[in-house]
Amino acid sequence: MIDSYRQMEIRDGAMAKGLDILITAAEIQKKVEGLAGRIGKDYQGKNLVVVGVLKGSFVFMADLIRQIPLPLACDFLRVASYDQDRSTGIVRMEFDMTQPVAGKDVLLVEDIVDSGRTLTHLLKHLEEKKPASLRVCSLLFKEVGSGVRDKIDYLGFTVPNRYVVGFGLDSEGLYRSLPYVAALR
Ligand code: 5GP
Repeated sequence: MIDSYRQMEIRDGAMAKGLDILITAAEIQKKVEGLAGRIGKDYQGKNLVVVGVLKGSFVFMADLIRQIPLPLACDFLRVASYDQDRSTGIVRMEFDMTQPVAGKDVLLVEDIVDSGRTLTHLLKHLEEKKPASLRVCSLLFKEVGSGVRDKIDYLGFTVPNRYVVGFGLDSEGLYRSLPYVAALR
């Protein structure tokens, strides 16, 4: 009962902010557990390096790595292609990883794959670093018929073609700290 009142409070708070909650915090946590379990099984005995794409993936990645029951290393890179919530169509590398990944098993962690332009660019960039393997984990995939779904090895949720925020994803720098994923109205 207390939980459902809390859920109502959260939903009403989101509505007041002009947000429609698409995925609740509880649903995300359950999914993260499932993904981490699969990754834990698949990477046993491997040399796992989890690479987060900043800034959007940092919340998801922080939760995910803490549930992967294996030794692992973390690194980050940053690309920009969006300006004021709109894709510019140009993917720019703002900074690169700091450790070599040649011969290691790289898991790239994304917040959301939309057109797939960023992901395609990053996969090419990482392949040049000659990892032993390269896979992709994304919290979200936007169903826009871009045909890149098969590049995502571990997927959290598919979302509709709306601009989403929360759980690391922003709109003009805001909303990253929300524990749920919501669409801007
Ligand atoms: P893509 O290159 O696949 O079109 O876009 C990927 C990047 O664009 C994501 O990593 C994210 O930074 C940004 N992006 C795409 N769609 C959304 C969205 O709905 N919300 C937010 N906050 N960022 C998005």
